[in-house]
Amino acid sequence: MSEKRTEIGAIGEFGLIERLNEQIKIRQKGTLKGIGDDAAVLDAGDMVKVVTTDLLLEGVHFDLSYAPLHHLGFKAVAVNISDVAAMNAIPTQITVSIALSNRFSVEAVEAIYAGINAAAEQYNVDVIGGDTTSSRSGLVISVTAIGEVEKGKEVYRSGAKENDIVCVTGDLGAALIGLQVLEREKEVYMANPNMQPELDKYSYVTSRQLKPDARMDIIHELRDLEVVPTSMMDISDGLASELFHICKQSKVGVTIYEDKLPIDKQTFDTAVEFNMDPITCVLNGGEDYELLFTIDQKDFDKLEKHPDIHFIGHITKEDSGKFLVTKSETAVELKAQGWVHFNQK
Ligand code: ADP
Ligand code: MG
Repeated sequence: MSEKRTEIGAIGEFGLIERLNEQIKIRQKGTLKGIGDDAAVLDAGDMVKVVTTDLLLEGVHFDLSYAPLHHLGFKAVAVNISDVAAMNAIPTQITVSIALSNRFSVEAVEAIYAGINAAAEQYNVDVIGGDTTSSRSGLVISVTAIGEVEKGKEVYRSGAKENDIVCVTGDLGAALIGLQVLEREKEVYMANPNMQPELDKYSYVTSRQLKPDARMDIIHELRDLEVVPTSMMDISDGLASELFHICKQSKVGVTIYEDKLPIDKQTFDTAVEFNMDPITCVLNGGEDYELLFTIDQKDFDKLEKHPDIHFIGHITKEDSGKFLVTKSETAVELKAQGWVHFNQK
């Protein structure tokens, strides 16, 4: 008798998580939200605690031939803090687990920790534990972050309503373009080790790839302005993919406008140099770790003048679909390309 075998690539990362979730039963009444958002949400009296974890694997998420160890440590923390921010929560503690091969020296591990400690300082969190083990397949770093927010002020992916305004912070596509630059310079270097990489011209995009920053500044500002977004998530897999998550979980549609999408000049110019469409980079580039959120129209005045929040569109009825209005005013259907870790056909 042959057992059924489904390739992971056939259902994709999100399909796999959904399928695993079907087997999971919530037993504790304190578990307010389990799988399915940027972080889990746990009851803590007047507050809720949020918990999130992310794994970085050598050869999949980073390449040590161009990722400095201290940046890697910083990034491993920042990507988790970004998920705490995405719940509208303030991070408080992290745990750090690492798997190392004997290729790494004590000094190398200390370099990773210098980055971890710099991030802990910047985001005001304590490193409270973790695990250390050996690895046969390169370096693995797993960070878990804990945060908290007043009960009722936590923000899920599921709260967007028709007519809400869609906002993104910062600029998008830079981390993807930075990766292209780093990969190209690596190839040049491998072909001729005497060549010095030419990275100055690309310093913004490469730093966005190597040392992303979580947007805690925005979370503090939203608090000061007394704005609670109706829905929110961080942009780790690409804007289009994240909009699909918000629409699916909120049961709404969306229209965004090409001329409102934020892109940095260096990202734009470098995309053109690589023969890539800058707008495709903005829509589908991963790892920018900016925030995507929706606000009620009544809050627009409070954010209107903010220099780093961009209003890219609005929420529509679910059956209106998901559209990008181009500069030539044609509405094209959005595709959720996402950042595909498994080979999806
Ligand atoms: P993010 O990109 O914000 O880190 P993910 O797409 O990685 O979110 O995860 C989506 C949801 O699925 C989260 O709630 C996460 O905790 C959950 N999840 C991911 N992988 C697993 C797994 N192997 N087992 C249980 N839950 C998982
Ligand atoms: Mg996230």
